[in-house]
Amino acid sequence: MDRHRLEAVSLRVAPTNASSFEIAPLAPFRGEGLGVRGFALRFDRSYDRRFNALLCPKSINKSLDRRHATRGSPPHPPAPSPRSGARGRKAHLLPKLHRGRLVLLILIIQCLACHSVNAQSSEDIYSNEYVRSALEVARECAKPLSKNSEVADAFELLFEFNPQHRHRFVLPRHPNAARANFEQMAKLFESKDSLEAFRQSLEKLAQTLDQLAITKESNQDLESGYRLRWQAAGLRSIVPVAAGRKEPAKPTWTEATAIGTMKLTPKAFVNHPKTRWPAGSYSVVLTPNFEIVSQAGTRPTEEVAELCEQVFAIWKQIFFSVWVDHRTSTPEYARSQDSKFSVTLFRDKAAYEKALKPTERNIGISTGFYDPNRKMALFYWDGQKTMETVVHELVHQFFFEASSQDVALDTDNGPGFWIIEGIALYMESMSTRACGAGILADIGGWDAPRFQAGRYRRLNDQFWGQWDEFRSATGTRFRRGKDIAVWYSQACGLAHLWMDGTPEQRRALVKYVQSVYAGKEEAALLGEMNADERLRTAYDRFLVLGPTAVATRPFYAIRKEAVLTRCDVTTKQLLEWPIGFRSSTWLELSFTQVDDELFVGERDPIEPPWNVRRLVLESTNVTDRSLETLSQMKDLQELDVSNCKVTDSGIAMLRGNKSIKTLWLTNCDISDASIDVFLTISQLESIHLKGTKISPDGWERLLDARPRLKSKSERP
Ligand SMILES: [Zn+2]
Repeated sequence: MDRHRLEAVSLRVAPTNASSFEIAPLAPFRGEGLGVRGFALRFDRSYDRRFNALLCPKSINKSLDRRHATRGSPPHPPAPSPRSGARGRKAHLLPKLHRGRLVLLILIIQCLACHSVNAQSSEDIYSNEYVRSALEVARECAKPLSKNSEVADAFELLFEFNPQHRHRFVLPRHPNAARANFEQMAKLFESKDSLEAFRQSLEKLAQTLDQLAITKESNQDLESGYRLRWQAAGLRSIVPVAAGRKEPAKPTWTEATAIGTMKLTPKAFVNHPKTRWPAGSYSVVLTPNFEIVSQAGTRPTEEVAELCEQVFAIWKQIFFSVWVDHRTSTPEYARSQDSKFSVTLFRDKAAYEKALKPTERNIGISTGFYDPNRKMALFYWDGQKTMETVVHELVHQFFFEASSQDVALDTDNGPGFWIIEGIALYMESMSTRACGAGILADIGGWDAPRFQAGRYRRLNDQFWGQWDEFRSATGTRFRRGKDIAVWYSQACGLAHLWMDGTPEQRRALVKYVQSVYAGKEEAALLGEMNADERLRTAYDRFLVLGPTAVATRPFYAIRKEAVLTRCDVTTKQLLEWPIGFRSSTWLELSFTQVDDELFVGERDPIEPPWNVRRLVLESTNVTDRSLETLSQMKDLQELDVSNCKVTDSGIAMLRGNKSIKTLWLTNCDISDASIDVFLTISQLESIHLKGTKISPDGWERLLDARPRLKSKSERP
C-alpha cells in the first residue's frame, strides 16, 4: 500500500539521569550564518522623490509631535530597546538621500566582492536604506502603545519580520476573525489621528516593499519579488480601515485575497461521494484553493479553512522553487492548478476511526493523515490540537499535489523518508498570533515546540542515528523501527539545522526535498554536511546555539517547553524574555551559566512569580539562595539541582512542600539532617541521592518511613 500517515509518536522523554553524562563539553558556536549580506538596488529618480515625500507626511509628523507633547516623553530618537539594538537603530527618521547613495555604492561593492548576486533574497531587505527608514517611521508610530500589552509585543516582532534563523510572515485574515482583534488594537491608540498615522506609515512601508518587488521581478528574482508582495499585503491588512471609515478596505493583491475568501454551505445537498456522509449531515467550504468537507461545527470549520489558506500562503513563500513553473507570470504569480486540495474533517476521533478502520491499519494511533492515492487529507476536530496536525498533513499534500515537477516518491520503499517527515515537523513550528487585523506567523527557530525534543534527545540522551543509515531509510523502515520516536526527533532537528541556517543552506535542503519527492534521493545536494562526522559536529554546534543566536527571544510570551541544556544562555537573557514565559511545563537549563539571580533578584512587583512544572538546573550556579523561591512554585513537580551548591540549609526550605514528586540531588553536599525534611514532602515518589553524605542508616530510615520511594530512587 502506498499510504502515508502520521504516527502518533510520544515525544515525552525519560527523566534525566545525572550519572550518565559523558558527552564532551560542546564549545558554543557563534558567527556562522549570522552575517548580513548586502545587495544593490537601483531606484529611479522619481522613486527617490516619491519616497522622500512619503516619509514625511504632515499628518504623521504632526501626530507624533502631539503625542510627545501630551505624554511629556522625550523627543525622538528614543533610546534603543535591548531587543532591537542589534539591528543598528538609526538615530534619525528622515533619510538623507546622499547617504543612501553612499550605502548603495558600498552595497554594490559588497555584492561584487562576495558574488552574492544570486543569493539575493527578501531576507536581505534590511540592508536597504529605504526599507529601514520606512520601517523606523512605522515603529515610531506604534511606540505609544502600552508597554506590556500583547499587541505591543506583536508589533515588536512585526518590525523584525525577517529575523535570522526563522521565517516570519504577516498575513491577512478572514474579516470575521480580524474585526475583534482590530478593535482591540484600535483602542490602544490615543486617537483616530494616531491610528491613522500608523496606518499611513504601514502603507508607506508596503509601497516601499512593492517597489522593491518590482525591481526584483525585473531582475528575474521572482522568489524575492513574491515574498515582498506578500509582506506588503500583510502590512496593509493590519489596519485595514482608514480612521473614520466603517468599511474595511480589502487587500487588492489576488494571491492575498485567497485568505478570508470562503463560501460555506452549512448543509450539503448530496450524499458525499468519498466519505458517504448523507446529505444534510455535513458542511462544505470552498476557498480559492481548498474544498473542505466537515462534520465539525461552523466555527471550527471556518477556522480550519482559514488555516488551510494561511499554510498554503506560507508554504508557497518558503518553497517557491517547488511550485513555480515557466508559466508563472508576475505580478499575479498565477499557478496552474487542476483542482482544489481536498480536506476532510470528521466530527471527532470516534467518527474518524470508525470510517477509516476498515482500510487503515493503526488508524487508532493517528491524529490525521494524507492519502496520496486519493489526494485527500483527513483529520478529526479536537480543538486547537487539530491545527498542528492540519499543518503537518497539508505540507505532505502540497509537496505531492502542488509541485511543478513530477512526483514519483514511493513512501514505503523510497529512501530519504526522514526529510518527508522532517520538513512537515519543521513546518509544524508554525506559531501564529494576532497583529492588528492581520496575523503574525513564525516558522522555525530555536523555540519551536517540536524541536525541543530533538535538542533533548541529542544533547541529553546523546542519541545519534548514523547518517547514511538514517537518510537512506525507507518509510517502512522508519515506521517499523523501535527507535521511531528518536528518529522523528532527529528528522525534525536536522530539518531545522538546514532551514534555520543560511539562505544557501535553505536552498540546498529544498533541492534535496525535491529530489526525494522526484524519487531520486540525492544526498550530494546537501553539500559538505553530507558526511556523518561533519554533520554530527555541525548539528551539535547548532543545537547549543539555541537562543544565543541573533533571534534570542521566544516568539510567544508563553512557550510551554524550552530545552536549553548546554546552551550559552544567561540569567540576564532569560529575565529579558516576556514575563509570561516564567510559567511553563518544562524548563531545562542544565549545564548553563544561570545563577540565583534568575530566581531571587529584585523584581518589579507586577511580575508574576516563576512557576515551572519540571525544572532542571543540574550543574548550574544555583545555590541554597534559590531554594526558597523554588519551593514556592505551586506546580513544581520535578526539581533537579544535581551538582549544584545546595546544602542542608537549602533543603530545609522544602519542608512541607506539597507538589514535588521527584528530587534530583546527586552530588549535593547534604547529610542526614535533610532526612526529616524529605519526610515532610507529602507527594515525594522518587529521590536521587548518589554522591551525597547521607549515611546508610539515614537512607534506611527514609525507606522505612516511605517504602514507596524504593523502586524509583537512587541510594546515596
Ligand atoms: Zn507525516
